[in-house]
Amino acid sequence: GAGEDTSSRATPVMAQFLVLKQANPGSLLFFRMGDFYELFFEDAEIAASALGITLTKRGKHMGEDIPMCGVPVHAADAYLQKLIRMGHRVAVCEQLEDPAEARKRGSKAVVKRDVVRLVTPGTLTEDNLLDSRSHNFLVSVTRNKATGDIAIAWADISSGELAVMQTSSNRLSADLTRLDPREIIAADTLLAEPEFTELLDRTGAPLTPLPAVKFDSLAAERRLKEQFDVKALEGFGSFTRPEISALGGLLEYVLITQAGKLPHFRPPRREVASSVLLIDPATRANLELTRTLGGERRGSLLSVIDDAITAAGSRCIASRLSNPLCDPYAIANRLDEVAHFVADPSLREDVRKLLARMPDLERALGRVAISRGGPRDLAAVRDGLMIAGHLAHRLGGSATISGLPENLDHICETLSWTDLDLARDLDAALDHELPAFARDGGFVKQGYSVDLDENRSLRDETRHVIAGLQARYSEISGIKSLKVKHNNVLGYFIEVPATSASLLQTADKAGLFIHRQTVASAMRFVTTELASLDQRIAAAAEKALALEQEIFSTLCARVDARRDLLSKIADASARLDAAAALAEVAERRRYVRPRVDGSTGFTVRGGRHPVVEAALQDKAAGSFVANDCDVSGDARRLCLLTGPNMAGKSTYLRQNALIVILAQMGSFVPAADAHFGVVDRLFSRVGAADDLARGRSTFMVEMVETAAILNQATERSFVILDEIGRGTATYDGLSIAWATLEHLHGENRCRALFATHYHELTQLAAKLPHLANATMKVKEWQDQIIFLHEVVAGVADRSYGIHVAQIAGLPAAVINRAQQVLERLERQGAKGPTSGLAEDLPLFAAAPAAKRESAVEKRLSGVVADELSPRDALALVYELKSLL
Ligand code: ADP
Repeated sequence: GAGEDTSSRATPVMAQFLVLKQANPGSLLFFRMGDFYELFFEDAEIAASALGITLTKRGKHMGEDIPMCGVPVHAADAYLQKLIRMGHRVAVCEQLEDPAEARKRGSKAVVKRDVVRLVTPGTLTEDNLLDSRSHNFLVSVTRNKATGDIAIAWADISSGELAVMQTSSNRLSADLTRLDPREIIAADTLLAEPEFTELLDRTGAPLTPLPAVKFDSLAAERRLKEQFDVKALEGFGSFTRPEISALGGLLEYVLITQAGKLPHFRPPRREVASSVLLIDPATRANLELTRTLGGERRGSLLSVIDDAITAAGSRCIASRLSNPLCDPYAIANRLDEVAHFVADPSLREDVRKLLARMPDLERALGRVAISRGGPRDLAAVRDGLMIAGHLAHRLGGSATISGLPENLDHICETLSWTDLDLARDLDAALDHELPAFARDGGFVKQGYSVDLDENRSLRDETRHVIAGLQARYSEISGIKSLKVKHNNVLGYFIEVPATSASLLQTADKAGLFIHRQTVASAMRFVTTELASLDQRIAAAAEKALALEQEIFSTLCARVDARRDLLSKIADASARLDAAAALAEVAERRRYVRPRVDGSTGFTVRGGRHPVVEAALQDKAAGSFVANDCDVSGDARRLCLLTGPNMAGKSTYLRQNALIVILAQMGSFVPAADAHFGVVDRLFSRVGAADDLARGRSTFMVEMVETAAILNQATERSFVILDEIGRGTATYDGLSIAWATLEHLHGENRCRALFATHYHELTQLAAKLPHLANATMKVKEWQDQIIFLHEVVAGVADRSYGIHVAQIAGLPAAVINRAQQVLERLERQGAKGPTSGLAEDLPLFAAAPAAKRESAVEKRLSGVVADELSPRDALALVYELKSLL
């Protein structure tokens, strides 16, 4: 406990710590002490265990030891990164003056310290703390009490992106997951509502409560006008009240974390809810769009289609994949870009070669804007401008032949605005090899500033003179081993072995050498000559450093003045990269241009699953079997798919959903031909129940998801359902699946693919005009079952399971009996009391031919593991071993 009343009894430093700690609740306080950041009390305990570093003690507080741990300043970034990844927040407290300065005020005076920034997951800017290939969104959520309207604003402060949209509670979590936030902020009053917090919790991002006043919409409006220097916000779009307050809260929070310095933001972009294809969180996760269910990028759709050269290009592809469009015109525009690069491979190659030299301009700019940039960020601006010029030239050159499509034309124009003067000046100023930080100097090129060069050569020449002194002093004293050395305490000094020190003193008639220090085996001296040279060096070095800092700030200011242009160039080159990369993938993987229009049609010929296909290619494990899909709204819009396990049903369902997503993000698709009406919302109820951990049963999750589909799917939606009803007893499940199918058919009227084990459902095709049956083709060959992975019209052969059982080695008597039961059941149809049982038997669950139980197995089968104490368990192991 670090309460205020206790601080009076603490040491002065501890008192300072406690004040700062209290001012920054909820953050681990990195308290700068010399070369370390130190953490105390609970902070130390949390950090020590999170970072795996030693927890020690430092002094006492109210009679108790103070737990303490520390990280060296030079390695702090790595530790920070680890803590942030784990969802912690860190307040970085620096020393604001030289300790010598403090000592002048008295022996008890404490070095001035203050928190210079809060490092939180959503407000990072440093390259080494960020993942260069993904966005780092901070999201702010507000709700209007009266209307219930919800707005979300999001920003990537490393790139300056800022956007906002209005949403509603039934799509909030879908909107949040597509942004994949690193941190969410909201009013503390809102976060006090459990239902609301639960919606936000689904994203897995840490939630940061802020006082509700930070979201006041009037204050927000003022702040926004001030930030973007406008009289009215209408120029950027017509924002709703909740939108403005979400934006305002966001800016307030960023301001707090950056200790009052607001980064460069582009004017807020207003997104309209209906402009993006909505994909609910479960569907997004199950389709493994940007990461697999296991949380990895590898194996996701993104990993297959992201062939961008630059990190910004990758971020662009990832964000398009997470936010596919709904406007056929905008989709066609993006497809035009890709098509242009598919048609002109040499342009594509040249552009990609140039992009390989394109730095991460967005993030470099972001750092310069908050004064956290270094010389390398300036170099990035220089290179970015140069390459933008080359890109525009190459693109423009190609236009004379074929003309550029609209989007590429915009990109080309933006890139050609490049400010070459600025690039040339930066080039003239910056050295070839650049340090990471400006503070130590050494980055300005020789010949850029006469003044700087003079001071540098004065400094270097003087060093030279000093090096020459060693020979002279050695001659005067007759001591061969005399050395001139340098350290931070004495500056330049002369060192002789202790044994020859007397020699020096006798040789020194003129009283040249002044004794300074005696160390273990040596004595140290200075001379007035040495001291004055030392001073000259120090003065020249200091002057040189000051001049470099001045040059640095001037250049940063020039870059900052062009930030609008620069961020447009960064954006244009990212989009260019994305288009060329998608074309590269299209060609390499034989994707075609889809046609997306305003109809409710859906025909895919020769469709493939992009990820499964890529995996097969990598392993050279045979080729993917392409399949057609025809579920047009006005014809057979529902497809009921039956077939044994492992035949390829869920692959087929998913591949068609993925084709929709790819097409609407503006990518070519893995098919021979694809033509469909734009999808407004994609629903799925497939596979994995990752909600088990949250205490919902598989069946409950399944039903919640099914309910969402039945309540919300429209004629424009696309739905895939995999084996619904499996999580309950056969009759329940069958009835639910049955009713669901009818509802989708008659009420939702959406396009849907429905895979099932319930054979009885195939009868519905006779009754429902828009439903068609399809099945996975399977072949038996030399006692082997071969899945052909081919979707054909019709119904699966239901005696198929018995064949498999036979092949698996079930005794002939059992197989015969099963055959009889099956025939009886089939005669009874769906009416009989036992008619569903056959289907519920999993296909490959056929037990191996009955085997006699061993003694160990017999003993084990009687054990109730939950009731065993550790000691019982050990005894059991001994007992089992004795049975072997
Ligand atoms: P089901 O849903 O019917 O149980 P899956 O869709 O999970 O079957 O497919 C099982 C496996 O078969 C997949 O992991 C995949 O490797 C392979 N597979 C599926 N469809 C195809 C296909 N069209 N071409 C080649 N292999 C396929």
